Amino acid sequence: MEFLNKKFLVVGAGISGNAAAKMAKRLGAEVVLSDSKAEADIKWDLSDVKAAGVSVVFGKQDASLLDGVDQVIVSPAVPVRIPLIQEAYKRNIPVTSEVEMAWELAKSPILAVTGTNGKTTTVTLLGQLMKTRFENAGVGGNIGTPLCEEAVNAGENSVVVAEISSYQMEASKNFNPHVAVVLNVTPDHVVRHGNLDVYQQMKEKMFANQSPDDYLVLNYDNDKTRGMAERAKGKVFFFSRLEELEEGAFVKDGWLTILWQGQICRLCKTDELKIKGGHNVENALAAAGAAFLAGARIPKIVEVLKSFAGVEHRIEPVATVNGVPYYNDSKATNTDSAIKALESFPDHIVLIAGGDDKMTDLADFMALVKERVDELILVGDAAARFKENALAAGYPAEHIHEAGYSMEKAVEIAHNISGIPQKVLLSPACASFDMYEGFEARGRDFKRLVKALLG
Ligand code: ADP
Repeated sequence: MEFLNKKFLVVGAGISGNAAAKMAKRLGAEVVLSDSKAEADIKWDLSDVKAAGVSVVFGKQDASLLDGVDQVIVSPAVPVRIPLIQEAYKRNIPVTSEVEMAWELAKSPILAVTGTNGKTTTVTLLGQLMKTRFENAGVGGNIGTPLCEEAVNAGENSVVVAEISSYQMEASKNFNPHVAVVLNVTPDHVVRHGNLDVYQQMKEKMFANQSPDDYLVLNYDNDKTRGMAERAKGKVFFFSRLEELEEGAFVKDGWLTILWQGQICRLCKTDELKIKGGHNVENALAAAGAAFLAGARIPKIVEVLKSFAGVEHRIEPVATVNGVPYYNDSKATNTDSAIKALESFPDHIVLIAGGDDKMTDLADFMALVKERVDELILVGDAAARFKENALAAGYPAEHIHEAGYSMEKAVEIAHNISGIPQKVLLSPACASFDMYEGFEARGRDFKRLVKALLG
């Protein structure tokens, strides 16, 4: 990709679009950044983009924006079906994504992770694993730090770890990670892509350009990802939580194990991982496998696996109060995620749930609540429906507590009614917008309130 004296149009003024625009400008291009929102509706600060010399155009995206343009870069938030991008295709103007621009700029291999769930956890762990080998290893992409900046900062003789969402693949063509990891594919984001097949194709694009020197790390336990091996161009490395494999990463006699090209290494026991739950065993196997293939040393992999405490708001240990541990799982904004959290603790859970109700079916969730939850504390818009469904599942009314729209009240109730061997878990199974700006704000508020209990 050439930048010097070329004209770039970047579409979408979010985190990646802004970074791409600034980077292209820095590399000598003339850059226009277009966002369909009115300036007043953009809540974040664009002063640095403007100060960098990027021309920002708000509102209507007229086809004339494409006049004289040599390269279009699309933000992940912008679907390629919008008329402006379709017009660019018609005019044969090269269109690509910010992650592909990052790949073009990177002087070190990219290790890319995608999947419906577990991306952020796996990418964060993989980043820490790779830092043991390459000091400048960077982590970017869907996780919130722009990949193009990380790619440039990593420099040579390093690696760049990329969290890739299906959205980021939509406009990509040549993106080609040296190690590609696909964690799982389950129905999600079908609205944007039309159907599950298209969603899966987006994920498969991530490894479509690989060659036999590259690696494709796939979850053996998920039908969709196991099937991807048939279309692999690189060497397939499977990981499995459930089966001992002939080759790959798996659990054997309770140990995370890598068996590759005749060599076997035991890493650590599953209960030595600080991150909780079977899903995190999968994330750990995937990250350890990818790190091993990318050159991390086994003793260092073991060290990091045993110390990695997970990512904020994902079954995050907060504090232990009177012998009762508190966990913040505010990222569980749907029942699937909350089920994963409940499955991570065998019993004696004091659960704080509820929030902005997604109105999905609660039968499986409530069945697990009945099995594992001693006390159910409900908050927010969803409280009434959650209560109704809990009762319908046979959960005893006397163990349901209502805290209205107050997390403070919820934590207070949890504190008053819990004791050893219980644990208090905030895993709402709901979005947060009825009470907070987002799940991060909810999680931080919960942590503040729990820490206040310590005095
Ligand atoms: P993502 O970045 O893909 O959203 P995260 O690492 O942020 O993934 O995890 C989000 C939630 O997804 C977690 O709270 C957990 O409930 C669930 N999750 C994490 N890893 C997995 C996995 N490997 N399989 C299924 N669910 C998972």
